[in-house]
Amino acid sequence: MTIVDTRTPDPKKFIKGATGDWEIVIGMEVHAQVTSEAKLFSGASTSFGNDPNANVSLVDAAMPGMLPVINEECVRQAIRTGLGLKAEINLKSVFDRKNYFYPDLPQGYQISQFKQPIVGEGIIYLDMKDGEKVEVGVERLHLEQDAGKSLHDQHPTMSFVDLNRSGVALMEIVSKPDIRSADEAKAYLTKLRTILRYLGTCDGNMDQGSMRADVNVSVRRPGGEFGTRCEIKNVNSIRFVGQAIEYEARRQIGILEDGGQIDQETRLFDAVKGETRSMRSKEEAHDYRYFPDPDLLPLEFTQAYVDDLAQHLVELPDDKKARFIAEYGLTSYDADILIAEKSSADFFEEVAKGRDAKLAANWVINELFGRLNKEGLELETSPVSAAQLGGIVDLIKGGTISGKIAKDLFEIVWSEGGDPAVIVEERGMKQVTDLGAIETIVDEILAANQDKAEQAKEKPGMLGWFVGQVMKASKGKANPQAVSDMLKAKIGLD
Ligand code: ADP
Ligand code: MG
Repeated sequence: MTIVDTRTPDPKKFIKGATGDWEIVIGMEVHAQVTSEAKLFSGASTSFGNDPNANVSLVDAAMPGMLPVINEECVRQAIRTGLGLKAEINLKSVFDRKNYFYPDLPQGYQISQFKQPIVGEGIIYLDMKDGEKVEVGVERLHLEQDAGKSLHDQHPTMSFVDLNRSGVALMEIVSKPDIRSADEAKAYLTKLRTILRYLGTCDGNMDQGSMRADVNVSVRRPGGEFGTRCEIKNVNSIRFVGQAIEYEARRQIGILEDGGQIDQETRLFDAVKGETRSMRSKEEAHDYRYFPDPDLLPLEFTQAYVDDLAQHLVELPDDKKARFIAEYGLTSYDADILIAEKSSADFFEEVAKGRDAKLAANWVINELFGRLNKEGLELETSPVSAAQLGGIVDLIKGGTISGKIAKDLFEIVWSEGGDPAVIVEERGMKQVTDLGAIETIVDEILAANQDKAEQAKEKPGMLGWFVGQVMKASKGKANPQAVSDMLKAKIGLD
């Protein structure tokens, strides 16, 4: 592939070496397990966690004479993913045999796609925390079979093979080398995972191996020629991707600054030590002898089929974010948090419907998500429902309770459940807007602090202290706006 440098070097991302600045260049190959009931070329189940070799058909075991039959659902999922990545869909693609020997690969080859993948060039947009917008090109997406697993720790003298994963459909999604920092690499993987989960084409469970990344890292002088890359294989968490890149970039810079050169090699990330280790060098690289699989015809479908899938695609994260900003007036930051998962976006919309959306976003993000995070809970198991949270927002908006009381109310709903409006009624939590009642307290506080009231005339900043005193005396139930207005009038601050 010819590499085009699409990025302008950014000093903020440079790494300082002993001899000057360096820039990191990263490209990723992500393997994502296709969400489907059956494997890519057989009817065996793809379910996770079954007994070893429970999900193995004669095709997966590569019995002589067995023929692969393409699973249309996997094709459909790959096309939908391509559409989600704004990519070119190839109406004709070819399955090739990638030949190598490994005990967990009974066929002696992996069926993959080489020169003619099902999906071509696409793009992934990243919104970085500092507001920078980054575009990372997708080179291709192809379908291939996963391999089985060798188990070396089950018996003192023997290794076992589990073929449950053998033949499961994977999408390999290859990025262009457009990524320039560990943070961008993490954002890329996070965004890709979000898109896949929205589409329902991969569950994104990295700890179960359904998504893993090969991370290609090189360093160069800013804006200079691309350096020789090393490929860190099978990194299985987003955090590890960041750590592996930081370590690998520094390792390469160290070698180059000592006058050495980088050998193109495959490396492994050791999460315990936080370092990368050599696995094999380019010289040991396989010659896979790719050729079109004679058991399979080229994969062909019509544009109408693709158009139909495009029409029924879910609203994608970028579109949802733009809509949340336009329709609800949210900040980019808040919108990002809400759209990270489709379930949280849906939850927010249920709370926001017909209500003050900014207030709703604030309660969903700061109170509910904050609390779920603290307790290590998922939204799916939240003790507070969207309807209940909406009820709290209504009570604040209607002036029935103050923001402070609302927090107490949230605590009650969180631990005891119930209808927020009923709780407020039964426990006498209503805000006092009766001006007569507020005036009594305001007068008491002013009388007890005459010296401070005198000073406040010169220093209006002291008003906040008075409001605080009145709120305290009213046990948080006085309407803060009414309190503030009345204090201003009485002190003579207008
Ligand atoms: P291969 O098929 O041998 O792994 P590719 O050329 O297809 O090689 O590239 C694989 C990955 O390596 C891609 O994600 C690509 O973006 C990335 N890559 C290519 N050149 C570099 C480089 N100089 N530095 C970092 N990543 C690179
Ligand atoms: Mg590679």
